[in-house]
Amino acid sequence: MDFQLTEQQILLQDTARRFARNELPQLARHIEANDEPPGIDLRRRFAQQGFLGINLPSGYGGAGLSHLEAALVLEEIAKISIAVAFPVFESCFGPSLALAHLGSEELRRKYLPRVCSGELVIAVSMSEPDAGSALTDLNTRARVDGDQVIINGRKRWCSGAGHAEAYVVYCRLENLPGARGIGAVLVERETPGLSFGTRDHHMGFRGIASADMSFEDVRVPRENILVPAGGFGRLMEAFDLERCGNTTMSLAVAQSAFDFVLDYVAERRQFGKPVVEFQAVQLQLAEMKMRLDAARLLLYRAVVNAQQGLPSINDSSIAKCFANETVREVTSRAMQLMGGYGYSKEFPIEQKLRDGWGWGIAGGTIDIQKINIAAALTGRRFDQRR
Ligand SMILES: Cc1cc2nc3c(=O)[nH]c(=O)nc-3n(C[C@H](O)[C@H](O)[C@H](O)COP(=O)(O)OP(=O)(O)OC[C@H]3O[C@@H](n4cnc5c(N)ncnc54)[C@H](O)[C@@H]3O)c2cc1C
Repeated sequence: MDFQLTEQQILLQDTARRFARNELPQLARHIEANDEPPGIDLRRRFAQQGFLGINLPSGYGGAGLSHLEAALVLEEIAKISIAVAFPVFESCFGPSLALAHLGSEELRRKYLPRVCSGELVIAVSMSEPDAGSALTDLNTRARVDGDQVIINGRKRWCSGAGHAEAYVVYCRLENLPGARGIGAVLVERETPGLSFGTRDHHMGFRGIASADMSFEDVRVPRENILVPAGGFGRLMEAFDLERCGNTTMSLAVAQSAFDFVLDYVAERRQFGKPVVEFQAVQLQLAEMKMRLDAARLLLYRAVVNAQQGLPSINDSSIAKCFANETVREVTSRAMQLMGGYGYSKEFPIEQKLRDGWGWGIAGGTIDIQKINIAAALTGRRFDQRR
């Protein structure tokens, strides 16, 4: 077991860090102030740097590197803000990866090179008004009609809704209850019958558009079926990789809050000395640092064990759950350590606290991850309905 990054990984991490620090802070402030998603220009700049599809095969335009390299780059960019990092998140850990692992060769060739060039973002549309944690209750239906699929239904909370150019839509492809009828279909944004509701206003996640999606007789080619009915388990296996992206975003927000407050407590003076000299402050810093290191190790275990494939539900749920709890704890402690300045919009911590919270709801709540962990531990599936 080796806990060191290779020279190439350190170089890639440094390159991403330099790019993020030099190029992104002003844009991140603009996005936060205006709640405006970044445009295609940013994606093109990421593509030039090779930051899109880092862990997608080179045959489809990706860098052909591992999930660990993708996590290293994503963390550096998300330390600036999760909104600027979102296109990298989607291309390295989002539904493009489900497409790469589960899709037909034809779908991969059609979409993945455009993801890697920045032309296209693919978002995931699973949740519905009455199907959140109980995702297998979803009601959006897809019916095969000759060489087409016709989709009807309503989706909620899709990150990227209205802005992403394509969506992996979880839907009921056969009239069977629970997971058995569920598959997924790829739908392009401009398809007639697909419309978007008004923007949701989350407490954080500014610049990451979210809205309801309505499907009224939306017709797409039959080849756009990514996974047929009965493939829900495989979709969840691919989603375990998305959870590693969620873990990375959580870690980045927590680490950047910690880095900021570490400098702050060294500079801020009370009672005639820097506040870092109070032992109570030192204990808090140590608690935060321990949690950050543990979260990082759990993330690295999940992505390294996955190699080029998909992580286990055990590794990904533990990493996500721990990082989701860590970011809430670290940003909250950082805010307290900064006193009134932590609570002020003039400093970055209040945004980090708001952004950090959402990751423990997105991608399956913290409690749902704990149920996954218990299921993996006991080798049982606990039916939540009985
Ligand atoms: C910032 C953000 C981004 C998101 N992005 C997307 C996206 O891109 N695409 C998408 O499809 N969805 C997205 N979502 C939706 C997200 O996946 C759901 O919000 C989440 O799965 C929880 O569903 P819910 O909101 O309906 O809560 P509910 O399922 O109603 O849960 C409410 C509470 O009950 C608890 N609970 C429910 N069932 C159980 C149980 N069996 N045991 C213990 N506790 C339980 C939950 O943990 C939670 O605390 C996003 C959400 C957020 C906040």
